[in-house]
Amino acid sequence: MNNTNPLLDSFSTLYTTAPFSQIKIEHFKPAFKEAIQRTKVEIDKITENTEAPTFKNTIEALEFSGYTLERLSSIFFNLNSAETNDKIQKIAQEVSPWLSEFSNDIRLNEALFKRVKFVYDNSNTFNLNGEQKRLLNKKYKSFARNGANLNQTDKATLRDIDIKLSKLSLQFGQNVLADTNNFHLHITNEDDLAGLPDGTKEAAKLTAKEKGLNGWVITLDYPSYIPFMTYAEHRNLRKKLATAFGARGFQDNKNNNEKIVIKIAKLRHKRAQLLGYKSHAHFVLEERMAKDPDTVKDFIEELLQKAKPAAIKEFETLKALAKKDGISKIEKWDGAYYTEKLKKQRFDLDQEKLKPYFKLENVIDGVFAIAKKLYGLTFKAVDTIDTYHKDVKTYEVNDANGHFLAVFYTDFFPRKGKRNGAWMTSFKDQWIKNGKNSRPHISIVCNFTKPTETKPSLLTFNEVTTLFHEFGHALHGMLANTTYPGLSGTHVYWDFVELPSQLMENWCYEKEALDIFARHYQTGEFIPEELVEKIKASSNFMEGMQTLRQLSFGLLDMAWHTGKLPENISVKTFENRAFAGTQLYPDVSKNCMSTAFSHIFQGGYSSGYYSYKWAEVLDADAFKYFKATGIFNAKTAKKFMDNILSKGGTEDPMLLYKRFRGKDPTPDALLERAGLVSAGKG
Ligand SMILES: [Zn+2]
Repeated sequence: MNNTNPLLDSFSTLYTTAPFSQIKIEHFKPAFKEAIQRTKVEIDKITENTEAPTFKNTIEALEFSGYTLERLSSIFFNLNSAETNDKIQKIAQEVSPWLSEFSNDIRLNEALFKRVKFVYDNSNTFNLNGEQKRLLNKKYKSFARNGANLNQTDKATLRDIDIKLSKLSLQFGQNVLADTNNFHLHITNEDDLAGLPDGTKEAAKLTAKEKGLNGWVITLDYPSYIPFMTYAEHRNLRKKLATAFGARGFQDNKNNNEKIVIKIAKLRHKRAQLLGYKSHAHFVLEERMAKDPDTVKDFIEELLQKAKPAAIKEFETLKALAKKDGISKIEKWDGAYYTEKLKKQRFDLDQEKLKPYFKLENVIDGVFAIAKKLYGLTFKAVDTIDTYHKDVKTYEVNDANGHFLAVFYTDFFPRKGKRNGAWMTSFKDQWIKNGKNSRPHISIVCNFTKPTETKPSLLTFNEVTTLFHEFGHALHGMLANTTYPGLSGTHVYWDFVELPSQLMENWCYEKEALDIFARHYQTGEFIPEELVEKIKASSNFMEGMQTLRQLSFGLLDMAWHTGKLPENISVKTFENRAFAGTQLYPDVSKNCMSTAFSHIFQGGYSSGYYSYKWAEVLDADAFKYFKATGIFNAKTAKKFMDNILSKGGTEDPMLLYKRFRGKDPTPDALLERAGLVSAGKG
């Protein structure tokens, strides 16, 4: 029997990449146990140090502790997302509680906090640079925001609130899921499916079969719900489905979420006040680029004022189109259907015609070529780096001076064991220790159209922008150049992290960039100008109404989290107040958004919904600068690289942004791009 565990030794692979081919499933659990133990020893060493706490012996030591655990976790959880199986999932269920218990132990470690606090309180005496100050602040806050400064009674109250909140969030999600699963639309007359694409019909038939039913079944799951609302001609069935969707968590049954919503909002408020914040939103936004609720509210209000006239105009067009079908009062369940109809009339953009211009290999070469033009990077395919699946490709990335920058993995095709969607991740972060710059290992994982025996992988335009988006995140990771891993690359505030990714998408809409790679895979001809124009125009379609909708969710989120709730108010009344001035369709009294708003009551988006639009404002504003100077302008690109891509979270993001841009961001560029205002002068 061999006793060595490849997950615990420092890897002897090229660039110390993860040694996938040596890892066996039975290595994981013992490795986690050992890695946690090693981290404990490192932390004990910090707390048992008899010297007075300093930045170096406490904050920096803490930052560089747990290396083995960090690498192991990233390898394991990346595998669990991209190449999982029953065994890996079972291990994940076992080790996740170990990890959360261990991180709780650290957070509640009073001896450790005492040292951290000492350094924090005496920070002036340590002569710290900007990055060190950020790290100190981050470490201190990670304790303080979890109650480390409270007395024992308040600490107990906080723990009690946290337990209640996590149970309530879980219950909230289970209730939404139960109401989602409890409803289906059973159709036995094929005429009722008029308008649906063949693929949707087939899927509905399959769903019926799975449920042991004849005919077709439409459910409230997005892949079933969305196409039905978009294409089904049968208005009453659309109404039935939409009303059921909007009633999730809001019915007279055991899944009702009204009380839970109120409880969560009240507990969050209480928690924030206990920690000395005015409200939950104040607590959350302290660690965001936006900083405080007023900034967010002003931000939403400004966009709202600009988007509303456009939204009203679009709404009138929809109404007119519906009227032709004899609909005198347009309702929520007509929205997607008439929007799609209008889109077809206006653009008739056939995705199948676009795809031949986007052969996957060409798009990859294109994004590499653009990275070279902008940042001087070169990508060399190498087959000597270990991977977890034969579809994974690896590259050695060098900077403009030919110095090794990063290892880059790509994993593009769907398969059993890979979750849906697209994401960027890392197997190893970047840092500088003892003068040595340790470079990162970055990966992007997608689920793109697979090649067939006769056809290469031809991407839809949506897949092209997805690839550029994830590549933008990857650049943030690869170009990272900071001392501390916790501030490196994409370790930035939540409302800042989408800037590099969304910015990158802009190149997909520029003829000058498309001409580098968008060539017909059979004839080699360039993508026609007219198609590019259509892509651009259709991407802005109904942007006013879309924007209004997003902003209304942002307002609702902020309303629930900014102050003390009024006494005895119903969820529906509260919601309608928050929505005032943002609703175009008539209200549906049986429906409620809050009771199924999983982003904020189940997931981690509370006081953060605005960040979708916030990031769009930033990327449009940043790209405007590129457009003004030339989309391949080396100087502009260098400014972006030096001030943003390489800096991670080492400084306040607004300062970094202003240093790149030379001024504050404004929403003008977004509004222009979205066609909501005409382009201004200057
Ligand atoms: Zn993203």
